[in-house]
Amino acid sequence: MTVIPTITLNNGVAMPQIGFGVFQVPNDETEQAVVAALAAGYRSIDTAAIYGNEEGVGRAIAASGLAREELFITSKVWISDLGREETLAAYDASLAKLGLDYLDLYLIHWPAPATDAFLASWQALEELLAAGRLRAIGVSNFLPEHLEKLIAVGGTVPAVNQVEVHPALQQRDIQAADAAHGIATEAWSPLAQGTVLGDSAVLDAAAAHGRTPAQVVLRWHLQQGRIIIPKSVTPARMGENLDILDFELSDSEMASIDALERDGRTGPNPATFNG
Ligand code: NDP
Repeated sequence: MTVIPTITLNNGVAMPQIGFGVFQVPNDETEQAVVAALAAGYRSIDTAAIYGNEEGVGRAIAASGLAREELFITSKVWISDLGREETLAAYDASLAKLGLDYLDLYLIHWPAPATDAFLASWQALEELLAAGRLRAIGVSNFLPEHLEKLIAVGGTVPAVNQVEVHPALQQRDIQAADAAHGIATEAWSPLAQGTVLGDSAVLDAAAAHGRTPAQVVLRWHLQQGRIIIPKSVTPARMGENLDILDFELSDSEMASIDALERDGRTGPNPATFNG
């Protein structure tokens, strides 16, 4: 079984560098997908209230027979539940659906900057952390300006910022801001939902190493130190996406993939997205 490397978060918690994402997996197919992912060796699962599949994730966890402490479970509070009371209630609702009594990581899903409600949600997350009801707290889709606003309050610095990062959208300004504050960057859509797998820089490196394009892209992330959560409902790809620890891209291959930046955003822009 693959031993997945970990990243030590700024509060000392170790988070698997490779996890399994379940965005767009229907609830009734999620149990099967997560059971297969756990069998392939994943121990970190990334879900969210808005995905509507926390129950499916919970059923797979229950069926796995794995000890809770072997798993790293992330969920996220949706925009409609921003605010202190709302977020506390949303956390309890997510736990109930997952059938768990704590999460390893809970994230504010989007800053939704039309209001400052994310600040009140952050207070709720800090209270949950102080009460020992979760292991780490973080944010998602936070631009540097949102991080600055949150950190200026003077409380807990987020452990993680989960943002869209892949070769076509590298968000180096966000990654630099994260690093400056000791925040781990976690890449969502690390494969750009498959849209970068035909690029020649990726194909050339894949041919040179006898690997698949997806493995090359995921390896590029690992070598740059990011946490990744590729999604696949295809068991062979689940294994393929984990099997990236025994080869190394050269500096020139890394630079060729870096050069694929093209502002190729696949999701909403956090500066303007308010749900
Ligand atoms: P990914 O970049 O992980 O790409 C998933 C797509 O790539 C699927 O179509 C999958 O197909 C395909 N794929 C997976 N592995 C391979 C492979 N080895 N070869 C070829 N194709 C492959 O996209 P996601 O958008 O799902 O992002 C990953 C996770 O990030 C999400 O599941 C979610 O957990 C998180 N996320 C978070 C967001 C946020 O706002 N915080 C927003 C979006 C995502 P198939 O499944 O058919 O095998």
